[in-house]
Amino acid sequence: AREQRWLMHVAEMSDGRRLVHLVDRSLAHAAERMRVDFVANASHELRTPLAAILGFIETLGDPEAGGDEGTRNRFLDVMMKEARRMQTLVDDLISLSRIEAEKHRAPDDAVDLASLIGDVNRVVKDSPDGEDRDLLIVIDEGVPPVAGDRAQLSQLLHNIVGNAIKYGRSGTPIRIAMTRNGDSMVRLSVEDEGEGISAEHLPRLTERFYRVDSGRSRAMGGTGLGLSIVKHIVERHRGRLDIASIQGKGTTVTVNLPTAPGALSSN
Ligand code: ADP
Repeated sequence: AREQRWLMHVAEMSDGRRLVHLVDRSLAHAAERMRVDFVANASHELRTPLAAILGFIETLGDPEAGGDEGTRNRFLDVMMKEARRMQTLVDDLISLSRIEAEKHRAPDDAVDLASLIGDVNRVVKDSPDGEDRDLLIVIDEGVPPVAGDRAQLSQLLHNIVGNAIKYGRSGTPIRIAMTRNGDSMVRLSVEDEGEGISAEHLPRLTERFYRVDSGRSRAMGGTGLGLSIVKHIVERHRGRLDIASIQGKGTTVTVNLPTAPGALSSN
């Protein structure tokens, strides 16, 4: 239930009557609450790796505790990993705020989604357990370009396919399909055979920092912002995002995006 918060303005009129103006502030209050939670969560996520790095620097600087070269190298490895985690998080935070800042400006480049598959192949190659995963890609003939922002659509694919790798079972394929959906939409789906997500979590996955299993997400290098970024990109493109999942079997993420103006008539 949303909390009611009323703001009351009282004005005294010249004839002595009072004018009372009530404003419902509950929505503004909820937005403010979300902002406060977001800053608190982001600070907490940054503080943990930062504390680890500072701890290791202190130990390395202590001549009594510095240890042999092997130990020092292990410390450096951990510091590097923690610093990378901070870097990924900061990159995601910057992406999120950029996309939000642009949300009222609809993107208008004609982007051929198929041309982004090369970027996706790179994601698979670059991820630690991407090597034993096959990408099965089906692109229908005559899929029109979408009205979009190329860099953002590449990031969208990157995040969705990245999750399919992180949460899919090792050795199982990832299926990507691009099809035309009626006259005005293009449908993109990414399907994995993985642990799946139980129904109670589905509606919350696109919330910032929401994770089903925080330990697992962090261990896989996740920030908890990936699907929130996806949601914002889809909204900016006036599209639709659906996540369907069966626990123990796998997950399918589907994005529908409007085609670029004039894309179909020119075919
Ligand atoms: P993260 O960085 O944690 O992966 P996301 O915002 O991308 O953050 O996803 C939020 C959560 O949704 C993940 O922590 C994970 O629990 C769940 N999730 C996302 N994609 C999948 C998937 N393909 N299979 C199972 N769980 C998923």
